[in-house]
Amino acid sequence: MGGSIAGCAFASAAARAGADEVVVLERTRGRLADRGLGLCIHDERAAELAATGALPGGIATHRLTRRRWVVREAGEPAGRVFWEQPFPFHSYHWGLLWQGLRQATPAAVAYRQGAVVTGVSGAGGRAEVRLAAGTAESFDLVVGADGYRSVVREAVCPESRPTYAGYVCWRGNFDARRLESLGDGGWPPESVTTVCFAGGSCVVYRIPGPDGPRVNWVLYATPPQAGRLPYDDPTSFPPGRVTEELTAHLGTLLDREFPPYWAGVIGLTEAEDTFVQPIYDLESARTTAGRLLLAGDAATVVRPHNTSGAAKALQDATAFEDAWRRAGTWDALLHAYRTARGAAGREMVALARRLGRGQVEQTPAWATMNHREAETWWQGQLGGATGIGGQPMTP
Ligand SMILES: Cc1cc2nc3c(=O)[nH]c(=O)nc-3n(C[C@H](O)[C@H](O)[C@H](O)COP(=O)(O)OP(=O)(O)OC[C@H]3O[C@@H](n4cnc5c(N)ncnc54)[C@H](O)[C@@H]3O)c2cc1C
Repeated sequence: MGGSIAGCAFASAAARAGADEVVVLERTRGRLADRGLGLCIHDERAAELAATGALPGGIATHRLTRRRWVVREAGEPAGRVFWEQPFPFHSYHWGLLWQGLRQATPAAVAYRQGAVVTGVSGAGGRAEVRLAAGTAESFDLVVGADGYRSVVREAVCPESRPTYAGYVCWRGNFDARRLESLGDGGWPPESVTTVCFAGGSCVVYRIPGPDGPRVNWVLYATPPQAGRLPYDDPTSFPPGRVTEELTAHLGTLLDREFPPYWAGVIGLTEAEDTFVQPIYDLESARTTAGRLLLAGDAATVVRPHNTSGAAKALQDATAFEDAWRRAGTWDALLHAYRTARGAAGREMVALARRLGRGQVEQTPAWATMNHREAETWWQGQLGGATGIGGQPMTP
């Protein structure tokens, strides 16, 4: 269920592992590729995933090597860089990544669009799917790759729901050629910039695009309290909705907190390319139940600061394929998947919470920080983890 990043990767994994029949049920009718936003995958995770076949070759990427942390400073149009750290990632355009994964799904996979699933059950050695059209279909196994508002999760562990982190992100992207109108901001193409301010931060980097390079940005901050939207319940806020109040607040943050050059960069974004997304945490108490299995964001929602969601979804698919190849029964497959993926999700959720605290909820005195203090602050957020971008796959 779900034909996005995790759904396509699982469909390919099942087909490669030898499934007789693979059906993807995706509710969207139009082109998923039109959702185009940026994301990054750590170079080491990408190499591991390419080796297992979960990340197909030939998908457009943009190489990133370092990350600059910047604060507003009088007399410095582009702000003061107070720290620079290695950033061994490649960025992707969501739509182009999805297209690559979709094209790599074997022709035998039936990818059905406009199929809205309303409920599932996995008891009695079969999995049953109910569709909005009023029909029901039966399978040996259902993979819930239906994202953070998962219907499959409702059946696997109804007690696990996404919890609102207390802040949102505004995100946008635009054609990188527009940067020419701002002059040289001293921004090398391979560098990611994090603009830091009290109560939030904003990550800006280039991504590939269907018509040439684009600029992608994600700004995290607490939304204004007046007229507060009901973020606590993830089903009550249509993804992407931007109200007038939230648009105005973005403008206030840019004027008040950003170095002028970086406010200008964000200001190049068209209103229709600006989105708002509440930030959630989710650790599922279980990743399988009966003949149901959870994958990608349906199983775990990690705050985006960890830059690991897509890699984790593809790793889930790799673990699934490996479990399938080793198992002789459905129960053995489900047990092996559960064992391989349970702890990884929990650890990433905890790390991303610490990153969110440090970069949004309890920001340090960035304006007076030097690089040594920044390094210590960063290590505190990692809390013993070796870095961001997800964990290596255990053999
Ligand atoms: C601001 C932000 C920045 C991010 N940055 C990064 C990054 O830099 N690196 C990274 O790796 N990850 C990043 N991520 C996370 C990443 O986008 C996801 O973790 C990843 O795409 C996995 O998604 P998925 O396929 O599990 O779920 P989704 O992409 O949510 O897909 C779920 C699919 O299921 C379908 N569906 C849902 N319900 C039903 C239903 N009832 N019936 C039928 N179909 C249904 C949906 O239409 C959708 O296509 C970021 C996320 C956010 C919010």
